[in-house]
Amino acid sequence: MDIIHLLPDSVANQIAAGEVIQRPASCLKELVENSLDAGATNIQVIVRDAGRTSLQVIDNGSGMSETDARMAFERHATSKIASAQDLFALRTMGFRGEALASICAVAQVEVLTRRETDEVGTRLCISGSHVESQEPCQCPVGTNIKVKNLFFNVPVRRKFLKTDQTELRNLLNEFYHIVLVYPHVQFTFVSNDEIILELPIGTEKQRIEAVFGKGNKPYTAQFVDIKTDTEIISIRGFVGKPETANKNPQQYFFVNGRYMRHPYFHKAVLTAYAGMLPGELNPSYFIYFDINPELIDVNIHPTKTEIKFQDEQTIFQILLATVKESLGKFNLTPSLDFNREGEIEMPLPSQRTDNSASFTTPHVVFDPNYNPFSRTNKTSSKGWEQLYAETREPQLPVNEEEPALFDMALTDITPYQYKGYLIVPCRLGLLLVNQHRAHTCVLYNQYTAQIDLGKGASQQLLFPEVIDFTPDEMVLLQTISEDLRVVGFELDQFSQNSYSISGTPATLNAQDIPNTIHNILHLIRETGANAKDEWRKKIALSLAKDTAIPNGKSLTKEEAQKLLEQLFELPSYRRTPDGQTVVSVITDDEIKRKFDI
Ligand code: ADP
Ligand code: MG
Repeated sequence: MDIIHLLPDSVANQIAAGEVIQRPASCLKELVENSLDAGATNIQVIVRDAGRTSLQVIDNGSGMSETDARMAFERHATSKIASAQDLFALRTMGFRGEALASICAVAQVEVLTRRETDEVGTRLCISGSHVESQEPCQCPVGTNIKVKNLFFNVPVRRKFLKTDQTELRNLLNEFYHIVLVYPHVQFTFVSNDEIILELPIGTEKQRIEAVFGKGNKPYTAQFVDIKTDTEIISIRGFVGKPETANKNPQQYFFVNGRYMRHPYFHKAVLTAYAGMLPGELNPSYFIYFDINPELIDVNIHPTKTEIKFQDEQTIFQILLATVKESLGKFNLTPSLDFNREGEIEMPLPSQRTDNSASFTTPHVVFDPNYNPFSRTNKTSSKGWEQLYAETREPQLPVNEEEPALFDMALTDITPYQYKGYLIVPCRLGLLLVNQHRAHTCVLYNQYTAQIDLGKGASQQLLFPEVIDFTPDEMVLLQTISEDLRVVGFELDQFSQNSYSISGTPATLNAQDIPNTIHNILHLIRETGANAKDEWRKKIALSLAKDTAIPNGKSLTKEEAQKLLEQLFELPSYRRTPDGQTVVSVITDDEIKRKFDI
């Protein structure tokens, strides 16, 4: 008996859907891209329960005929390409003809659509790939697609969806990727009947302002323009002034109207800032590339955002030079105001002039053999050191069964303070303790203990502080607000885009509140912490880092002793919770070797 048979379309579609549609955000991307391809100038996204209950996209685009509306949900049905040749000159967002077929395989879909030339529109209902009804209807020109109960027939997938807040953040991030590059299209985002974003038509800069600007000071004032036109590529956009670098930068690349990730080009941007940024801070940027579509390959996996360029090394050079030129020009203006903490290394005035002079024609000075990674040995040597640190480090005792680290009580030792390190003799040699990291470990343990107990000490602020947040930050804050209360924050939503803070953890310095909260949000977002206990740890860590004594501060003898005592009482003290070395030893042998003994 023959055993091979073709799968029914509904099953094949469901399998394909597994790849294309992973979460409500992928649905949003596909539907909004379709609206853009249909020439819409006004697009509304309306979600309920972060798209779990429903996700609706309404556009004023071309609409579809009765037959096309039906065809659109078939697999490999597309109006955008006709032959393989067309793949090399794509100017539309979609082309695979997979999205609608995939969506209708795993949800209940209702479409209302009408073309301008038609008197009546058509209403089509499909559930799990089965057409349930199609009938004429009255509706405006354009397309209105509602996707209900996503994954209703794939319970495993539905279960895998994260909390509503996380999914809503994913939706907003996907939305940002699109709206930032289509400023000439009007967008609205509504979640559970609340308008979260309303974006009028404008320039790219106005769109960035509308998305990320909050309150009184213009967000886009933090940026300088970049622009270059070469035969290979045109680049334009905005890069953050060095002193506005922060821990939570917005970094976006777009190519031909499409968001992309590109770690190699990211490296080019960072290289342009070399020497201008303090350690952990990063610049924000919004960079738009325009390139002949034949020189890029977007025909990769539908959910991937990486794009291959034919001549990446040359583009790297052009991008680097362009960003550097703009930063150079900016350096010449005298109105610099570095009122932030931390050292920012700026080129000397004489070098600045040189810089800007040599970058007036950025696009002609590239070296095709240049390999950025072989030159930026700053990062590689750091990696090298870390690699060896593991093997060089003498074993420090970890628990009580091992011999104690110190021959005498810590209260009998006076720690020597040197550049943020506490130095004390120990059984193995000279012990070096990074003071800030040591205190971070101690505080982290205190904060996690408070969280376990359910209440941390709080200090009331004389005047509540109102802090503005972006929509996705608001969503994240709502998720973690209970946990922030547990560590001592007293906070209430104040308006659609702000929180009022009336109390903080007792250890926190009042002027650091906005920074500390932003750092917490950033750490959670960066590490993708999703479960409650995960983000509680992140809150504790972020707070500990922000409130720990800085390395520059000199301590009294008692303070230094107390810190060491607290540190060595911890169950683990060698590394901070995020893996940074706290304690290091120069062994007696190493010291002897230095003296050829
Ligand atoms: P693709 O976008 O890759 O062509 P889709 O499955 O996303 O595949 O859509 C199939 C087809 O349905 C599109 O090629 C387009 O002709 C039509 N279509 C989808 N959405 C819309 C819309 N909002 N307005 C007009 N036509 C649409
Ligand atoms: Mg599409």
